[in-house]
Amino acid sequence: MLAGIVGGKGVPASVTGNPLVFVTLTAPSFGAVHRVAKPGDKSAVCHPPGKKRSSCAHGRARFCTVVHDPGDEVAGSPLCPECYDYPGQVLFNALASRAWKALTDNLYHHLARTAGLSRAGVRKRVRIEYLRVAEYQARGAIHFHVVMRLDGPDGPGSRVPAWASGELLCAALGSAIEVTTVRVASAAAGERVFRFGTQHDAEVVDFTGNGFSPEHVAAYLAKYVTKGTEDVGGADVVVRHRSRIAELGRNAHVRALMYAAWDLGRVADLARMRTRAWCHTLGYRGRVVTASRGFSVTFKDLRAVRAEFMAAQRGVDTSATVTESHFSYVGHGFGSPLLEEWAAELREDRQEARQLARDALADLPSEGRGWAA
Ligand SMILES: [Zn+2]
Ligand SMILES: [Zn+2]
Repeated sequence: MLAGIVGGKGVPASVTGNPLVFVTLTAPSFGAVHRVAKPGDKSAVCHPPGKKRSSCAHGRARFCTVVHDPGDEVAGSPLCPECYDYPGQVLFNALASRAWKALTDNLYHHLARTAGLSRAGVRKRVRIEYLRVAEYQARGAIHFHVVMRLDGPDGPGSRVPAWASGELLCAALGSAIEVTTVRVASAAAGERVFRFGTQHDAEVVDFTGNGFSPEHVAAYLAKYVTKGTEDVGGADVVVRHRSRIAELGRNAHVRALMYAAWDLGRVADLARMRTRAWCHTLGYRGRVVTASRGFSVTFKDLRAVRAEFMAAQRGVDTSATVTESHFSYVGHGFGSPLLEEWAAELREDRQEARQLARDALADLPSEGRGWAA
């Protein structure tokens, strides 16, 4: 991760001069949830009463005037569970990686349009590289934190054209996010089209200005990497029977998501979404950390960087410098038992998923197999 930002391990140090952008991609809304007050904004209530009718069809209030603390049990839970689109959120989580892929495919086109060049022209002159970290919001929806970098045509060391600025990339991201959709069609459940939430925000990282340093970027990502799966609220084991869900999950909302994931497995032409195999991750089946091939180096190399760093750390008193402790945090991020566990789980899950898929296919009438993505 660090090599892609500050250079090293085969990445030239000049990479710090390449345009770098942070972007957060959120999930769309699946219903109003109790919100945590933003730090410093003590006057913000959860949902102020609005002009709409004050209660839903189930007689539950559409507003909540409480100021929820981050530790509040109710944070992330819907105002009305019956109104909440649980299957929709599980399907979005299941499709999140595909939505990301679609977005990155669209991005060159939007970069070209924003720059006033042809798509082929842009591809010849710049490369888009990224590192993506997946995280769950309190409501259990997946969102992505991404560091995106523009490189010259021959990788991080080659010159980036002057027009290819971080601001241009932010603008292209904005327009690409707006139009990128993923679709899932089911004869039984109908068609659903999802797009990323409107609250995406892209910001240019400028190492020459104040406020940002490569260490800050690394620390920022490490925070999300280490948060990783422990915040799922789902479960750390594959769910094999629906009855198990009652004992799992952080709260009723998370369990409702798990039930939805399980029950979607019953919809014949949604079996390929494998939401039962990924019930414990609330539908999400991507990785916690993903990097484009050219972003920095391989994860094997990252482990080596970390090992070197950790070795160097042992001889250094880190108590006096914040930066140093951030670095060690990065090291722990990639080497945490949590991520090791997650990796082991992914391997297990793949086997489990294959079995579930075989079972599901065996159950299907032949006309039920015409599921289109
Ligand atoms: Zn509330
Ligand atoms: Zn309701």
